[in-house]
Amino acid sequence: MPGTDALLATCAVPSDGPLAQRAVPEPHHPYRTPFQRDVGRILHARAFRRLAGKTQVFTERASDHFRSRLTHTLEVAQIARTVARALGLNEDLTEALALAHDIGHPPFGHAGERALDDPLQEYGLRFDHNLHALRIVEHFENRHLEFRGLNLTLAVREGIIKHSRDYSAADHPELAEYFLDQRPPLEAQLIDWADEIAYLTADLDDGVEAEILTIGDIRRGVTLVERPFAALQADHPGAPEKLLFQESLKLMLNALADDLIAETARQAQGIPNLEGIRHAQHRLAAFSAEMEQFRREAKEFLYRNLYLCSELENGHRQANRVIGELFSAWMSEPWKLPPSYAEQVATEGAPRVIADYIAGMTDHFILELHRSESKAPVPERD
Ligand code: MG
Repeated sequence: MPGTDALLATCAVPSDGPLAQRAVPEPHHPYRTPFQRDVGRILHARAFRRLAGKTQVFTERASDHFRSRLTHTLEVAQIARTVARALGLNEDLTEALALAHDIGHPPFGHAGERALDDPLQEYGLRFDHNLHALRIVEHFENRHLEFRGLNLTLAVREGIIKHSRDYSAADHPELAEYFLDQRPPLEAQLIDWADEIAYLTADLDDGVEAEILTIGDIRRGVTLVERPFAALQADHPGAPEKLLFQESLKLMLNALADDLIAETARQAQGIPNLEGIRHAQHRLAAFSAEMEQFRREAKEFLYRNLYLCSELENGHRQANRVIGELFSAWMSEPWKLPPSYAEQVATEGAPRVIADYIAGMTDHFILELHRSESKAPVPERD
C-alpha cells in the first residue's frame, strides 16, 4: 500500500490549464480555483438538492436510514477525494465530478431509468443519465445573468459524460469537443470506482436494515465481508453481530479504496503526464485482478439477493407504471406540460422534452403528480 505522497501528481489535471476553461470566459477568482468554483456551483444547483428526494435502491422509504441519491453522492465524494489525494491528483476536480456523477438520474433509481428509456426507444431515442446530466448543467440550471446553465469548466463537463463510459464520435457528433478518441483524466476515471465502492458497501448495509439480507447470507456470499468479520470475531469474542458487521463493512470499504490507489498507481507507473494518461491503450484507474474478482462477487451477490429480489419488485412495477402513464399522457397532450417545457417541444420534440421533465422529478413529486392526474383524468380534446 502506497503512502500518501503525490504518486501521480505529474498526471493530475492542472487548475490553471486549458481544461479549467469555461465556454463563456470569466475573470479569475482571487482565491478559489476554477474547480473549487465548480464544486460550489454544483452544490448550489437545484438538481443537486433534488437528489435528496431520489431513490438510491429503496423506493418505499421504510427506514429513514436508507441512502438517498444525495447521501450516496456525499459518500462517493468522500471516497473519491481520499483516493485522489493519496494519488496526488486534482482533489477539487475530483470532488466536483463526484458531486455531479448522479445528477442526471431520474426518480426511482435504476428502475426509473429503464422506465424512461423504454418509451423513448419507441421514438428512436435513449435515456442516458450521463448525457442528461450534461443537459442539466448546460441548459436547465439557470441562476446566472451572463450565461445559460452553470458554465462549468471543460474538465468537469468532459468528466460528467465520460466518468463511466466512452462515447463514439460517429454516434455523438454533438460531443466532439470532449476528446472522444482519448481516455478521460484519472480524476474522472476513478469516479466510477468510487461510486462502486460506495454503493457495494452501502447497499449491503441498507439491505440488512431493510431486513431483505441477513448478515449470515452476506458472510456466506461476500468474501470482502467474511474475511474481516471472521478475524474481528476471533479478536472480540462475544461482540454483537451488528457491530462486527459494521466494522467489517468499513474494512471492506478501506480494502477496496487501498487497492484502487495501489493498482492505479501501478498501472500509471512510468506515464509522465496527462497526455500519457489520455493516450493510454485503456483506462488506468482499476482494481487489482484479485480485488476485481471480489468486487464482482459482491456485485453479483447484490444483484441476486437485493436488486432483483421480489421485495423490491413492487417498487419497480410502480416506477414503470407511473413513468409510463405520465409519459403517454403528455405525448397525447404536450401542451399540458409546464410552459417552460412546452415551448421546447417544437425544437426538441415531445419525447425528449417529456423525458427531461420527468427525469428532473423527485420520487415524491412524480408520485403526487401521478396521483392528482389519476384522480382528475385529462379530458378528451376534440
Ligand atoms: Mg452513483
